[in-house]
Amino acid sequence: MQIVNGSIITPDAVLTDHTLVIEGRTIQAIVPSESAPADPLVIDARGLWIAPGFIDVHVHGSDNHDTMDATPEAIHGMGRFFARHGVTGYFPTTMSAPAEAIARAIENVAACPQPEDGAQHLGVHVEGPYLSKDFPGAQPPDVLRLPDPGEYAQWFESGVVKLITIAPELHDALGLIDEGINRRIEFAIGHSGASYEQVLKAADHGVRQATHTFNGMLGLHHRNPGTLGGVLTDDRIYAQIIGDGIHTHPAMVKLLVRAKGTGRTILITDAIRATGLPDGDYDLGGQPVTVRDGVCRIANGSLAGSTATLDGVLRNVMHFAGLTLPEAIPMATSVPAKAMHLAGKKGALQPGADADLVLLDDDVQVHLTMVGGRVVYQADNP
Ligand SMILES: [Zn+2]
Repeated sequence: MQIVNGSIITPDAVLTDHTLVIEGRTIQAIVPSESAPADPLVIDARGLWIAPGFIDVHVHGSDNHDTMDATPEAIHGMGRFFARHGVTGYFPTTMSAPAEAIARAIENVAACPQPEDGAQHLGVHVEGPYLSKDFPGAQPPDVLRLPDPGEYAQWFESGVVKLITIAPELHDALGLIDEGINRRIEFAIGHSGASYEQVLKAADHGVRQATHTFNGMLGLHHRNPGTLGGVLTDDRIYAQIIGDGIHTHPAMVKLLVRAKGTGRTILITDAIRATGLPDGDYDLGGQPVTVRDGVCRIANGSLAGSTATLDGVLRNVMHFAGLTLPEAIPMATSVPAKAMHLAGKKGALQPGADADLVLLDDDVQVHLTMVGGRVVYQADNP
């Protein structure tokens, strides 16, 4: 199969007059169009960008499904919904809950085949329960607890847990981090009151991400840089940001991109079950959530995840930070891929990589999504 006539966003350059050649599930080559081999299967991308598919490392649910439902239908339904928004791979994200509920959600993903018609699940992001009671956000405070080796050993054994959000200042958190890093599991600082020094120490132990930067963490003071000061200034740390313009002021998104650069910023949605559905009453991992004007809150008024989609987040952040699409797109593709050990396979259009890609117009509307060489979504009337 070939994709022709579009502007191909590769890691090094935007290529026009080039053809992207796909063989089976893989990108075989990107060649000047005049030297492309004849192929009966051609997708015409005239007037469109050809970009890598988006990767969301922090997303709880959508379209009335939630990772904590722990059903194959939930994972399938989420994958289908995300594909409509340009996502080709995502990390179903759990909520803080009793041990059995988290274990069920993890086992469900482990047993779930990849969908034929949607985004792939690339592993589980376990958000909590080892989080600070001082920064719960919408995580149910009564189930927040200290790291429990009996519990997290099961997560390790599952083979699908790839990212754990943790407050590194908790007792024995660094022990868990050391064990996880040995198994190539990534860690994100989140829902944390860690001091600046504790953030650097966590990074020394191998922590390389921050969960929804600004939200659910000790903020910045010029004599006490806090969790946020550590995250913003330690170049080892990739910073996730919910780019919905609600969880943080647009100027703070711009500030983050300036501090970390597009090479260390990861766009996430932190989307919940209500995403893609009308305003109303929903639940988030068993907690009641009210959605008004697309803004989700729990009873005490705390923001509770988002109803954002990653195409919309990318569009927002281009606007907030004054970036072009080729400048902004790594934050939704190659940067999360690198942070999750997927570079070479995912997040970039290059020979040998999976044929996971999207066709976008200048307004970041998704025209077509392809996962592993298969078209999983095509807009009727984009
Ligand atoms: Zn959170």
